[in-house]
Amino acid sequence: MIQQTDISWQTQSWQTLLQSAIRDVRSLCEALQLDPSDLSISSVAENEFPLLVPLPFVSRMEKGNPLDPLLLQVLNSSQEEVNLDGLVEDPLEESEHNPIPGLLHKYYNRVLLTVTPSCAIHCRYCFRRHFDYDSNNAGRSSWPRLLRYLNEHPELDEVILSGGDPLVASDSYLQSLTEKIAAIKHIRQLRIHTRLPVVIPQRILQSDLSWLASFTNPVVVLHINHAREIDADVTLAVKRLKDAGAEVLNQAVLLKGINDNLDDQLDLQRTCFESGIMPYYLHLPDRVKGTAHFQVTEARGRELMENMKARLSGYMLPNLVVEQPGNTSKTRLI
Ligand SMILES: *Cc1c(COP(=O)(O)O)cnc(C)c1O
Ligand code: SF4
Repeated sequence: MIQQTDISWQTQSWQTLLQSAIRDVRSLCEALQLDPSDLSISSVAENEFPLLVPLPFVSRMEKGNPLDPLLLQVLNSSQEEVNLDGLVEDPLEESEHNPIPGLLHKYYNRVLLTVTPSCAIHCRYCFRRHFDYDSNNAGRSSWPRLLRYLNEHPELDEVILSGGDPLVASDSYLQSLTEKIAAIKHIRQLRIHTRLPVVIPQRILQSDLSWLASFTNPVVVLHINHAREIDADVTLAVKRLKDAGAEVLNQAVLLKGINDNLDDQLDLQRTCFESGIMPYYLHLPDRVKGTAHFQVTEARGRELMENMKARLSGYMLPNLVVEQPGNTSKTRLI
């Protein structure tokens, strides 16, 4: 069991929890009763993509375990300095599908808006670690251009709010943005890709989610890689999202040393389901520079999925996908 020594954060507002996130290895080690010398840490990696992890997420890490699967997702490891052929900064070639700042139009009927430049947590495997958010986010000043683009593209029926993490933005900001999007007749679907309900569930528990009601059946895609990321607060946050009318799905990334084994995958899919979250995607990691130590081969991914198929009810199975630049959708492997 995880011991809880400092729970003072539990009464903080979600905005304070964003600000009070741990930003250095020393404080993280202190919270986890680890000796920094037990960890192989890289300051080069830290300079490139700073450590950032909020306290509710830290509280679910196991004390004294340098291989904790939640810790490994956020720790700036010296293994990030290993370079592997084929790992690049923009593996998805997104810059080619970026007609205006803050908007990615890669697939026919759906666009992705990078609503905020920031995230509540820095996940080391993330392809966005090299993304230039400062010059590429959909701040209020860019709304007229974004909305004009949506209006001028009747083939679009879905808008995906992404980031960064779109729920870093305030409810009033999201309210006015989603109202404007909902006023465009051909946009029928709203989707939100977020990790905030997982890493700071207070974001949902303390909020009025009425802005979600601008659309009849909004979809919230969470991002949970390990069953241990789900605690009672996360389950409660999911319940609130569903009570507000949202469909709640999960996408995970298959990460070496974190969840690339059958038991962890079974546990993840079952725990998500028990918390009201339906499976969506299991991604092979993007081929992004700095993530050599997380890479799982396609063959290993397929093998794992075959074993999951034999052991899980069909409705608990995610689609194994990989993102390949130039394709008209993500590629389903199984
Ligand atoms: C992943 C992604 C989407 C959504 O794809 P789905 O398969 O519908 O989940 C849309 N736009 C971009 C740019 C994406 O990367
Ligand atoms: S975009 Fe998502 S996966 Fe990437 S760092 Fe932010 S929260 Fe993590």
